[in-house]
Amino acid sequence: VEETHDIVVIGAGGAGFSAAIEAKMAGADVIILEKLPVPGGNTLISGAEYAAPANWLQEKENIKDNPEQMAEDMLKGGDNKNDPELVKVVANGALDGAKWLRDVVGVEWENELMFFGGHSVKRSLIPKGASGQEIIVKQQAKAKELGIKVLCNTPATELITDENGKVVGVKAEGPDANYTFKTNKAVILTTGGFGSNIEMRKKYNPEIDENILSTNSVGSTGDGIVMAEKVGAELVGMEYIQTYPICDPLTGTLLYFDDARLYGHTVIVNKEGKRFVEELGRRDVMSMAIKAQTDHCCYEIVDQNGYEQSKLEENHAAEIKYLYDNKLLVKGDTIEEVADFFKIDSTEFKKTIENYNKYVDAGKDPEFNKRSMPSKVEKAPFYVIKAVPAVHHTMGGVKINTNAQVINKDGKVIEGLYAAGEVTGGIHGTNRLGSNALADITVFGRIAGCNASK
Ligand code: ADP
Repeated sequence: VEETHDIVVIGAGGAGFSAAIEAKMAGADVIILEKLPVPGGNTLISGAEYAAPANWLQEKENIKDNPEQMAEDMLKGGDNKNDPELVKVVANGALDGAKWLRDVVGVEWENELMFFGGHSVKRSLIPKGASGQEIIVKQQAKAKELGIKVLCNTPATELITDENGKVVGVKAEGPDANYTFKTNKAVILTTGGFGSNIEMRKKYNPEIDENILSTNSVGSTGDGIVMAEKVGAELVGMEYIQTYPICDPLTGTLLYFDDARLYGHTVIVNKEGKRFVEELGRRDVMSMAIKAQTDHCCYEIVDQNGYEQSKLEENHAAEIKYLYDNKLLVKGDTIEEVADFFKIDSTEFKKTIENYNKYVDAGKDPEFNKRSMPSKVEKAPFYVIKAVPAVHHTMGGVKINTNAQVINKDGKVIEGLYAAGEVTGGIHGTNRLGSNALADITVFGRIAGCNASK
């Protein structure tokens, strides 16, 4: 089957929908290809929190913030391996992107903020229900309203170029037929990262092998990176692969129970009952610290107050039930009881909690400098989960410029090809800070869509 469109977007995650919606609203004829049976990608299964400097909730809480400060946090969190120009674009466009999702796409944001590791201030918006479902459901509805077709079960396999190296189309495999899509304007790559592709992980970073589980969608296999490389694209930062510290030890799925940590309510200990890392530290730092502990795992505790304030039952009931059923979560009236369940040293654990509560009173944590301690761990019952780190985000990918155009190995623009989202590299350096993915994919998805439609 052969079809011609102005723009073909490859990958129906958050970046792809943002690009397609903008392109269509600018008047282009757009189609989205999605290789899995359902759209959403990693965006759908993420918490989808969104870092937006100087947002409306910060204003209410009197938190001073600005894009420059967010850019600084991104560079520091990425060990300055980020491209500062791309960082600036994300930081400057983040708030506008959040408002666009709210006002144009219809995303509802909760009325409070989360404090993510590595950020200097609390600046992260939470979508309704604290999950990417809110983002994807609303984007899908908007795409439908605009008449954007999404072809599922249709993986793109190859970019088509003309004699000058310009991208002029894409080949794809549908369930019933093979497609050749010709493009009048551009192809936009929004295929996500490669966290689920073990061979590709090992190629670029041999340490991230089959022994490490992954939080990613099965669709995150780096297809867009491979396709772009075949038409000459430069790749950057491919060795930087992030693990998320708090995941299911059985499957690698990211545990939303961890929301309690991001509200500041939890304490993390090892089998010996001792703290070993700042609970609001960078994801890579926390992950490496957890890997170094007995059994390569950690235990996270929250008390009844923190449990309620983090809305765990309200937002994540299915996960809570799963955790109980699989003996990964215990609830108990005393620290001894929850410690014994996981065979954690209960004497030390009790001491650790007593000390932590003193730090909360003093407003200062002399051991790990935890940056936010809104509550003590004191009110029974107590809840403890067991967790391990798992692959979460691949920072590396296709090199782009500030217009979201893909750059080749000679530093020149590849005409007709744009990329946005996790498929791109250079924006987060060695380490993406939590809640910056949504800002990145929204800002660059929109830029790609707008520019491609010109
Ligand atoms: P981002 O956060 O950058 O938007 P996501 O992981 O949310 O990334 O979305 C990427 C989407 O691209 C996923 O839905 C994934 O299944 C899809 N995808 C990956 N490879 C292909 C491909 N070859 N053809 C079509 N869709 C693809």
